[in-house]
Amino acid sequence: MKALVFADVGRMEVREVPDPVIEQDNDIVVRVSSAAICGSDLHMYQGRTSAQPGMIFGHEIMGVVEKVGNGVQLLKEGDRVSLPFNVSCGTCFNCCRGFVNACLSTNPKLPGGGYGYADLGPYRGGQAELVRVPFADFNALKLPGTPGDRWEDDFIMLSDVLPTGYHSCIMADVCPGASVAIFGAGPVGYMATLSAFLLDAAEVYVVDRSEVRLNKVAELEAIPVDFSKVDPVQFILNARKENLAIQESFRPGEEKMAGVLCGIDAVGYQALNRNDPNSEKSIQVIEDLVQIVDATGSIGLIGVYFSEDPGGMDQNARQGVFNIPLGALWAKGIKVGTGQAPVKRYNALLRDAIIQDRIHPGKLVSHRLRLEHGPEAYEKFVQRGAGEGAEYTKVILKPNG
Ligand code: NAD
Ligand code: ZN
Ligand code: ZN
Repeated sequence: MKALVFADVGRMEVREVPDPVIEQDNDIVVRVSSAAICGSDLHMYQGRTSAQPGMIFGHEIMGVVEKVGNGVQLLKEGDRVSLPFNVSCGTCFNCCRGFVNACLSTNPKLPGGGYGYADLGPYRGGQAELVRVPFADFNALKLPGTPGDRWEDDFIMLSDVLPTGYHSCIMADVCPGASVAIFGAGPVGYMATLSAFLLDAAEVYVVDRSEVRLNKVAELEAIPVDFSKVDPVQFILNARKENLAIQESFRPGEEKMAGVLCGIDAVGYQALNRNDPNSEKSIQVIEDLVQIVDATGSIGLIGVYFSEDPGGMDQNARQGVFNIPLGALWAKGIKVGTGQAPVKRYNALLRDAIIQDRIHPGKLVSHRLRLEHGPEAYEKFVQRGAGEGAEYTKVILKPNG
C-alpha cells in the first residue's frame, strides 16, 4: 500500500510499504477514507519529539472495516468507523476507570498508547491506505452514513481535536455563564472554542496571531485577540473589567475577580515568545494564563509538553523541565489539569451532537488532499496560519482518493 512516511526532520515522503495484516484475533484492518494532519504530528516533524525515519504518522483516522479478526464481535466488513487516537484495551485498571489515555496494555514503555506517535507504542499511523486497529471492538466507534457524505469532515474531528478541545474545557471547568480564555486558535483551540459554547460559556477570548485562524474562531462568536498587536493579558483584563462595570449588581469585592474563571493552553511547548515572535518560549502561555485566570479558577493545559529525547527548543524543554510559576498558582488556588485527552469518554456523545446538527466541527477543514500532496501539506501546515500556510486551517488526507 501507499503511505506517507517520515523521512527526516522537515521531510515527509510517499512510499510503498507492506499492507497491515490481522496480528491478533481482536484486530481489524480499516481502509482509510480520511486521515488528518495534526499539530501533534508537527512536534515530530519539527524534531521537538523524536521519531524514527520510516515511521507512518497519523492518529486522526476514519474509514471502512476491510478485514476482521476471528475474535471481533461487534464489527463486520463494510462498517464505517472513527478511531480514537488513544489505542486502549478497555479492560485494564485505567481503561476500566475511563482513563483510556493511560491504558496499561497497549504501550510497553508508558501508560497510554497511540497510532503513529513516538513512544506511544508499536502502532502504525493512518496517513496510509490501510491501518491495523487493535482491540477493535473497544477502539472503533461506529458511524452512520458512507464515506464522502456530508458528515465526513465532521466525523474525522472525532478522533482527536474535537474531544481534545472538549476535554480541555472539562479540565478548565467550563460551565454555563463561564468566562474563558483560550490560547492558540489552531485546530485544538478552535475545537475548545466550539466546545466552550456547546457547554454554554458566556464569554470566550481566543489568543493567537494568525488572522485566518482568529477569523475562524470569530465565526464561532469568540472574541479574537491578536497577540502580535496587543498584549493579550492586558487586553483580556481590560475587557473583563469593562464587562463587569456594566453589570448592575456587583456583590462586594467582585471587582477583584476581573480575570476569567477558565483558562486553556491550546499551544503547548512550541509557544512563541510574545516579546520576540521569531523565537519560542516554552512557558509563555502558562505565564499569561496565571495572570488572567482568577483565584479559584481552573486551567486546562491540553497543549503538549512532552519531550523524551533531545530536540526541544531549549535545554529545559529538552529535559521536560518547565519553570512553572507554581507560587502564583498556589496563591490563587488555581486547579490545573494536563495530559492526553481520553477520547472515548466523549466521542459517542460528540458524534451524536454532530448527527443532531448541534455542532459542525468540519467547518474547520480547509484542504482535502491526495496522499501525494501530503509532503507539501506538512510544509504549509507547519507555518501555523502564517505566510504561505495561512489558509491551511485543517488538512485532511484522502489516501484512497
Ligand atoms: P497548532 O500548532 O496548529 O496551533 C497552535 C497555535 O498556537 C498556532 O496557531 C500558533 O500561532 C499559536 N500560538 C503560538 N504561540 C502562541 C502564544 N504565545 N500565544 C497564543 N497563541 C500562540 O496546534 P493544534 O493542532 O491546534 O494543537 C495545539 C496543541 O495541542 C499542540 O501542542 C498539540 O500537540 C496539542 N494536542 C494535545 C492533545 C492532548 O490529548 N492533550 C491532543 C491533540 C493535540
Ligand atoms: Zn491529533
Ligand atoms: Zn487498557
